[in-house]
Amino acid sequence: MLMTKERRPAIRTLRGWAINVLQEAGAIHECEAHGWAKDLADPHARQRAIEIARQDQPLGVSPEEAVAEVRDVLDSIGDTCPECPSPLA
Ligand SMILES: [Zn+2]
Repeated sequence: MLMTKERRPAIRTLRGWAINVLQEAGAIHECEAHGWAKDLADPHARQRAIEIARQDQPLGVSPEEAVAEVRDVLDSIGDTCPECPSPLA
């Protein structure tokens, strides 16, 4: 196992938990300036996040629900921060 058991902050919502898992896995990253989550498009990190969701979901949440939420968050996150100036502009 690569994951070390850490004390995590209290999880308020399943969405917040999924974002946390994706950050831990390195699949998403917050914009330093604006705090928007960005998808790093790393398939290995995504796979890692799915594995975490499958094995270590919040109390009262099924593995299927946890994995579905992680995928849903991934789908909803773009690969750029909406507030950062576009590098192509
Ligand atoms: Zn930004």
